[in-house]
Amino acid sequence: MSYAAFYQKSIQAPEAFWDQEAKLIDWHKPYDQVLDHSKPPFAKWYVGGETNLCHNAVDRWLATQADQPALIAISTETNIEKTYSFAELHAEVQRMAAIMLSLGVKQGDRVLIYMPMIAEAAFAMLACARIGAVHSVVFGGFASKSLGTRIDDAKPVLVVSADAGMRGGKAVPYKPLLDEAIALAEHKPAHVLLVNRGLDEMKLVAGRDVDYATARAQHLDAQVPVTWLESNAMSYVLYTSGTTGKPKGVQRDVGGYAVALASSMKHIFCGKPGETYFATSDIGWVVGHSYIVYGPLIAGMATIMYEGTPIRPDAGIWWSIVEKYKVTRMFSAPTAVRVLKKHPLELMRKYDLSSLKALYLAGEPLDETTSSWIATELGVPIVDNYWQTETGWPILSVARGVEQTATRLGSPGVAMYGYDVRIINENTGAECAANEKGVVAIKGPLPPGCMQTVYGDDQRFVNTYWSNFSHEQLYSTFDWGIRDADGYYFILGRTDDVINVAGHRLGTREIEESISSHPQISEVAVVGVEDKLKGQVAVAFAILKNPELAETPEQKRALEAEVMSVVDKQLGAVARPSRVHFVSMLPKTRSGKLLRRSIQAICEGREAGDLTTIEDPSSLQQIQAALTA
Ligand code: ATP
Ligand code: MG
Repeated sequence: MSYAAFYQKSIQAPEAFWDQEAKLIDWHKPYDQVLDHSKPPFAKWYVGGETNLCHNAVDRWLATQADQPALIAISTETNIEKTYSFAELHAEVQRMAAIMLSLGVKQGDRVLIYMPMIAEAAFAMLACARIGAVHSVVFGGFASKSLGTRIDDAKPVLVVSADAGMRGGKAVPYKPLLDEAIALAEHKPAHVLLVNRGLDEMKLVAGRDVDYATARAQHLDAQVPVTWLESNAMSYVLYTSGTTGKPKGVQRDVGGYAVALASSMKHIFCGKPGETYFATSDIGWVVGHSYIVYGPLIAGMATIMYEGTPIRPDAGIWWSIVEKYKVTRMFSAPTAVRVLKKHPLELMRKYDLSSLKALYLAGEPLDETTSSWIATELGVPIVDNYWQTETGWPILSVARGVEQTATRLGSPGVAMYGYDVRIINENTGAECAANEKGVVAIKGPLPPGCMQTVYGDDQRFVNTYWSNFSHEQLYSTFDWGIRDADGYYFILGRTDDVINVAGHRLGTREIEESISSHPQISEVAVVGVEDKLKGQVAVAFAILKNPELAETPEQKRALEAEVMSVVDKQLGAVARPSRVHFVSMLPKTRSGKLLRRSIQAICEGREAGDLTTIEDPSSLQQIQAALTA
């Protein structure tokens, strides 16, 4: 079947389509109804059906591949490398589940997981899924305040954590931050389960804290049967990255999510049982949920959990893993590829990468230079995919498992099946013509796997996502984009990031793309800055490939003029940044997203705002210094 026909079926007859896809997972009890959309925008998938995520990820594979690798935990920080077969994973998950039950965790209770990228984190997620507890994984890089806010929102009965994580060879303490977060929070979890890695001294709070190794030893032979859950029971709450403001607690179901993952693993990621999948993200993000833990396992694949950076011990580390474990599908982010690009190519070229069939990249715009570079180096297709914490799986990409759809540089691809994607004029609410800019929206119902609601706040779900265009059931992605005549989409930035220069609305992304095409620029951020005359002007902060080319003020001015003329030629003078500053680092979140909000605030002389997710605060000092230079 052509992808176009496949897609049409999913939009015109969604119930028949998703009924078919539901066969990809095991059901304990068949559902009565594929879709209940009687209370839009809420969509209930597979009503009345009973299943379990842990069963589909682990137990299901015991009959055919119990001794095959399921979870490969690699830490280049502690030099621990361990493979768990499906049988071993099954045993570990049952031990973890038994501990949780012994600590009083019941079906529907929340368990907050604040952990580094170690195998126990996956055990904890799967154990929650097994007993019907709701996990909320909080990224290990968050400090006490962010963690405390999430504790108060999710109200967990149990927190699973560790003494410390490790990054770049240094221990990063977790336990003291967790203690402080609990002290700050109004809600107090009854218990804290702690994995002691021996990285940092740890004082246990009597009556509350439990040592994992001790508890595990008491449950070595645990057998904890799967709790069958109605398809629309809650599986987890995950907070969005917070790039554009207060994080939203994205709540997800069980059955729809399992089907969406099984389906996307087949049609988009093309994974097969027995193969190895390697996603370099973190369990604290949605990619970690969908495509480190659940997706690959549901597809019967071995999945790699990696603790470490892309460049330690050297920039060849990921490729050595690909060679050693014969990785077929790899998933990473453009920001990581840009890091690798700065390192000697020999490190990458010395490994046998013949097992690799495709590299998937997501999370932020994939610029053409980075995309072409990595495609040439690896000699495999690069599959950009665009989605959100809210959707749980790709909205835009190419479904190579259905058809070898051609990709287009700069475009994440076409609408994925199940998503009725529209480009909407934000003023009139009407659909845009081809190549006309608008807001990327999705006509309801959202397909299986997408968020059910904002945790604990249905009204916020409706108000935030479904009330931006008056006359139709349209979900707003808050991203700005265009669709070309052939159905390929281009993401032009977030709607918050649109710049209004003398009445012209420009996406920051467009200007960034244009500046990136200058051969000396390796990365750039563009923000709109208040201007008395024009409303706003674009200001650019760029990183140079060879910083020594712009050391003197004269060199800087010359290069700045060159960059401006590139924008003039490509986009027109209206898009020309009023200044191009050169820096060596840009402020980013720990998931690699540019913090344009903070850059803009500094440019306008305001406070940088909430910086709990920032990777390196000194990047903001650079912005400040560039402005005053
Ligand atoms: P918050 O919603 O709290 O501000 P966030 O949007 O950064 O946080 P995520 O859900 O992790 O949190 O990120 C989704 C966003 O990332 C998308 O809406 C889009 O802006 C961007 N994005 C993801 N993938 C791509 C891609 N392939 N190309 C361009 N942009 C992408
Ligand atoms: Mg978002």
